[in-house]
Amino acid sequence: MTKHVAVVTGGTRGIGAAICKRLKNELGYTVIANFGGDEQKAKAFSDECGIPVVKFDVGDYDAVQDAMAKIAGEYGPVDVLVNNAGITRDGTIMKMDREMWEDVIRVNLGGCFNMAKAVFPGMKEGGWGRIVNIGSINGQGGQYGQVNYAAAKSGIHGFTKALAQEGARFGITVNALAPGYIDTDMVAAVPEPVLEKIVAKIPVGRLGHADEIARGVAFLCGEEAGFVTGSTMSINGGQHMY
Ligand code: NDP
Repeated sequence: MTKHVAVVTGGTRGIGAAICKRLKNELGYTVIANFGGDEQKAKAFSDECGIPVVKFDVGDYDAVQDAMAKIAGEYGPVDVLVNNAGITRDGTIMKMDREMWEDVIRVNLGGCFNMAKAVFPGMKEGGWGRIVNIGSINGQGGQYGQVNYAAAKSGIHGFTKALAQEGARFGITVNALAPGYIDTDMVAAVPEPVLEKIVAKIPVGRLGHADEIARGVAFLCGEEAGFVTGSTMSINGGQHMY
């Protein structure tokens, strides 16, 4: 059996950390977790689960190409990519400045392009690849106060379908996974009264857990998922059904 090498962006906490653990423990892949800046959390994560961590900004094209070349040199060609890193800079359009817009588009959407550029040629050469892009329920339905985030996440869904068409004949599948509200640091930042209203709209009546997303990602990254491409898997407690 081929030993697959996976890179998970934003893999040191929240949903990304759960994905790293699933790919390592359930699928037996070699996993490398990227992170953006929180060295302490990255080290604690790495110590806890024995997964190497690499710091770079997914929004910085040159930094991504350099880091990914080093990772491939050390661990072998990366044939599994999970574009999970994401940020929020919320505010209504009246309060959102250009920087808030650009930061979110650069990291959340630009990061997917930068990472895919780094791994796609190697996947094509190897005749096999798995790319999973983490979208969002708010990219599917929009969200008040998030024109930047909703645009970036919606863009991810289009990016996925276009790249899936390019990858299919080379054995590369490209899928999106759109989580609903999951109990991570990102959601902890949502004010309590707003969160209560959100949970009231989730049919199962609770937030999701990071590992519930990770299980879906592991399925899409598995050997057996070769016929699934260009799709969006929604895992959201029934909040979004269209
Ligand atoms: P967290 O905020 O808990 O973690 C984000 C991760 O992304 C961290 O590891 C962080 O690194 C990393 N990161 C942030 N910016 C960069 C960057 N520029 N370069 C590299 N890494 C970066 O997020 P979640 O786990 O909640 O979310 C993970 C993904 O799921 C995101 O794409 C998010 O948009 C999406 N999502 C989340 C939902 C939720 O309810 N939580 C719902 C729908 C989608 P560091 O620790 O160094 O800051």
